[in-house]
Amino acid sequence: FSLFLRKICDHEERTFLLIKPDAVQRGLVGQIIKKFEQKGFKLIGMKFMLASKELVKNHYSYLSNEPFFPGLLKYMSSGPVVPMVWEGPNVVKNARIIIGITNPEDCIPGTIRGDFSIQTGPNLIHGADGVEEANKEMYLWFTQKELISWKPAITTWVYEGC
Ligand code: GDP
Ligand code: MG
Repeated sequence: FSLFLRKICDHEERTFLLIKPDAVQRGLVGQIIKKFEQKGFKLIGMKFMLASKELVKNHYSYLSNEPFFPGLLKYMSSGPVVPMVWEGPNVVKNARIIIGITNPEDCIPGTIRGDFSIQTGPNLIHGADGVEEANKEMYLWFTQKELISWKPAITTWVYEGC
């Protein structure tokens, strides 16, 4: 039983999220972070930076044959971004739900993209698609040292038996 409890409390899943330049320019950084914070997920890494085209190219390499790729590189390197790593049970999938699907036209209200964006291009935030992608992406944007292990004071109140 204690093993079971430890498993819930030491949820090891991590996801990579990236607040895009349009969200920074529109002053939505705080509101976006608040969504994950108030849910109870744990922030373990964050920075404010300019991304080079090279870095964005790496990050979105799976889209390199798309006609919108040059525009995507330009957009993503046009201003500061906020890369983040969040931890929690099923955080990869959950964060995608909080973000909303790719096309904001089909996003339900309450999601980040549903509430604050109109088009597929400038859609405010990136969220890793799976655990494997999340791991790959977080080490593209962060070093191991920049990710902090800590126990938030709220843990006992968010998780049963922790
Ligand atoms: P996501 O995982 O929901 O962000 O969507 P994808 O991984 O399919 O695409 C990555 C990002 O590329 C999207 O968030 C958009 O910013 C951009 N993108 C995807 N499809 C399109 C498109 O058809 N047109 C434009 N302009 N941008 C797109
Ligand atoms: Mg994607």
